[in-house]
Amino acid sequence: MEAITLERVRKGLLQKRGSLTAWLHANPSRKKEILLGPSTERSVEARLDVIDAALLKADAMTLGQCDICHGEVDPELLEVDYTTSVCIDHLSEEERRHLERELELAQRVQKMLLPAEAPRIPGLEVKARNQWHQRCSFETARVITGIP
Ligand SMILES: [Zn+2]
Repeated sequence: MEAITLERVRKGLLQKRGSLTAWLHANPSRKKEILLGPSTERSVEARLDVIDAALLKADAMTLGQCDICHGEVDPELLEVDYTTSVCIDHLSEEERRHLERELELAQRVQKMLLPAEAPRIPGLEVKARNQWHQRCSFETARVITGIP
């Protein structure tokens, strides 16, 4: 993984760790039970353990490396979850389904954030529109297939 990406992921992990820890300490037990619903405080602590393991990998420069085949974990997978420790080939069936749901949600959010049509610039309208659609469908296809 590129150093700049690794640093960004590392910062994201530290930020997540900080907010989870602050949340655990700031809320009274009863409130946490209500907010967590079917989950437990232990599941939040387990998540913190996973984040700590990812931070150790970041320090050892092995974050983004598949635990099983030692190949590279797809950057898109890491963007969905900074703690991903296996490549797409070694995800369990459950992890694969979870990822698909996350990607579908991300795509829906992404589409809502994009303007309905390309900006109109005199003289550049046709080219801009073509590139707009090409880029959008390329990005969507890339996310779905995992092909870089
Ligand atoms: Zn692998």
